[in-house]
Amino acid sequence: MKNLPKIAKVLLDLSLDRSFDYAVPPDIAGEIRVGMHVMVPFGKGAERAAFVVGFAETSPFPNLKAICSICQDNTSLPDSLIRLSEWMADYYCCARETAVRNLLPGAVRSGKVKQKTETWYFPADRDTVNRYMLDNPKAQGRCALLKVLLRNTRGMSAEQLLREAGCSVGVLKKLVSEKVVVTEERGVDRDPFKGADVLPTQPKEPSPEQAAALELIRHKLHDRKPDESHVVLLHGVTGSGKTEVYLQTIAEVLKAGGEAIVLVPEISLTQQTVERFRSRFGDQLSVLHSGLSDGERYDEWMKVQNGRVKIAVGARSALFAPFRHLALIVVDEEHDSSYKQSEAPRYNARDIAVVRGKFENALVILGSATPSVESYYNAETGKYALAKLTQRHDPSILMPEVTITDMRLESDGEGRIPFFSKGLIDAVWDRIRRGEQSIIFLNRRGYARQLSCPACGYIAMCQECSVALTYHKRSETLTCHFCGAAMSAPEVCPLCGSHEIRYQGNGTERIENTFKEIFKGARIARMDSDTMTRPSLYEKTLAAFRKGDLDILIGTQMIAKGLDFPNVTFVGVVNADMGLYTPGDFRAQEHAFQLLTQVSGRAGRGGIHGEVLIQTCAPFNSAIQFAAEHDYGSFFAEEIELRRELEYPPFNHVMLVHFRGADPEQVLLTAKKLMEKIRPVITPDTKVTEPAPAPVERIGGKYRFIALFMGTKLAGLRRAVKSAIYSEKHPGVDIYVDMDALSFL
Ligand code: ADP
Ligand code: ZN
Ligand code: ZN
Repeated sequence: MKNLPKIAKVLLDLSLDRSFDYAVPPDIAGEIRVGMHVMVPFGKGAERAAFVVGFAETSPFPNLKAICSICQDNTSLPDSLIRLSEWMADYYCCARETAVRNLLPGAVRSGKVKQKTETWYFPADRDTVNRYMLDNPKAQGRCALLKVLLRNTRGMSAEQLLREAGCSVGVLKKLVSEKVVVTEERGVDRDPFKGADVLPTQPKEPSPEQAAALELIRHKLHDRKPDESHVVLLHGVTGSGKTEVYLQTIAEVLKAGGEAIVLVPEISLTQQTVERFRSRFGDQLSVLHSGLSDGERYDEWMKVQNGRVKIAVGARSALFAPFRHLALIVVDEEHDSSYKQSEAPRYNARDIAVVRGKFENALVILGSATPSVESYYNAETGKYALAKLTQRHDPSILMPEVTITDMRLESDGEGRIPFFSKGLIDAVWDRIRRGEQSIIFLNRRGYARQLSCPACGYIAMCQECSVALTYHKRSETLTCHFCGAAMSAPEVCPLCGSHEIRYQGNGTERIENTFKEIFKGARIARMDSDTMTRPSLYEKTLAAFRKGDLDILIGTQMIAKGLDFPNVTFVGVVNADMGLYTPGDFRAQEHAFQLLTQVSGRAGRGGIHGEVLIQTCAPFNSAIQFAAEHDYGSFFAEEIELRRELEYPPFNHVMLVHFRGADPEQVLLTAKKLMEKIRPVITPDTKVTEPAPAPVERIGGKYRFIALFMGTKLAGLRRAVKSAIYSEKHPGVDIYVDMDALSFL
């Protein structure tokens, strides 16, 4: 017999990056496991919840307190997930408690949300009921109700029972009080799909390319050798049928008794996406995303926890769905930057999917029309297997025709560049006339970029952040896109009183207004985070667009991804240059290429050939050119050489250490002290940029400094930084690490 554990290491919900030792009482020693949620005494008589993360034979601490009990709230986790969280705490340099907390949705963690219940009614035993009816022959209502119940011994809800018996609730209450009718509470799910019935669909006959991809995947699922890669990169152009490949792979996994997780970027987690999975797998599916109410989220998570579903579809955090027989993780649009979490743990779900897959021996499929440079490089060097879908599933549906318009040639006599080229306006008119639809894309919300005074040079800046405010016309406000501060927009320059004050640049709101003037009578809607403040608005606008109630949809990246509208035959990109030349953003080219390809992919998905028009002042930029030619291969070849030369990822890891606080001198001093502490472990091949003010120096009143490290082996450095952060207090200064940061900013 195995030795029973004597001492458990547990993590409390603190941020100390340390576990505590507790004695395991004999009555639970046989039952306790890693991952279990337990109650422990902590501080003055209080009990707190904690996760068991390991066991020990001895402890350096004398007189250990004992664990009180195992929580009965059904939130214990598989030990593989506990292991994953420890890995993340290490790699992303965050407290272990933070990493464990991240495994559970807030709604489950808080312990406040409970299973929803409904009262069900049953007859007491038959003798009692018969006796009662004989004793009360004149009570017609009560007798009728009891007769109905005797026919439904498996129980009924009050609503159903009263309807069938045709009597009032008072009758039921009386019978309950006389114990002739008994009640029982039953758990019911809060169903986020209530009323949304979907028609079942059958697997589609795979195209030759899909068949080849599925063949490779089947081999990986069933005959993979231990030293063989467990990751498949599925590179398929937009509309090539990647989703169909996921669906058939999931079916294969379920058949073999396995479970699957599908990650999609939050923004593409629309009803349309979910329905594609529901129509194939029905109730075997749980959906996890931020649009759910706490109660729904709790129920969806519990369905996984209790083994009632085999598939979880969701945004980033669905990666931690507590499956015990995980066989597949799909990361759709694997290049998407929303997979990187911006708070601790600052993990990238794409990368952690690969790690979880490794830990649990599950296959990982990374899918994209525009794979990240990292993933494609891994495929080229053989670390990942590669499957390609080069054609749309129906080869007669061609990739859209893309035109690049040089906006410098569109300027008027005085050198002013208009918002829209003649070509774009003509193309939209054409679509309106033909009853087809257009999408107009701009990567910036608001009306105008900033408010400035040509007389004195004044620019309206945020009081708390070192950025210019953005003008929003509808609300006549200036808002800060960093901290959310808002003020009303002035009519005259607050500095010199000039009436010449101007709004420069353009945003989605301004485009909408200009469009309404140009295309009189057209039905136009705008989708950005200013207008789409609730998920229901988002679904509503999309539904109107799908039905053909709108001619033109204007939006930010919210509309760039995943939408599949067959009647959209034109996509206009207002300003493709935006963000191309941000200093410190070494992925600017990659992001521009991805975004343009994604947006273009919205055109011509039905039978009619799509057209895309890209307005730019940098027509020879290679990201724009390669996107226009749908040429990922050439884009990658050029980009990877550049990265190699500059030693950027994937040739090095980027690690940022952020420092922030209200007093800039104190922040810098803390930063310098930390640097001195870690300097001895920095290897000679690691590039170091000493702590310097961040490009946006101040956000929300806090000064920010960043130190940058680039290298191939940063494990030693990570450990040293983490120990420097957690081994002492840094009053007034927050320090955190952003490992594999997406940019240098
Ligand atoms: P992707 O995910 O690569 O953008 P989708 O999976 O959305 O592509 O496929 C685009 C369209 O093609 C969808 O309407 C889908 O139903 C259809 N489709 C995909 N594969 C097939 C197939 N083998 N036979 C018929 N239609 C298919
Ligand atoms: Zn002025
Ligand atoms: Zn601000």
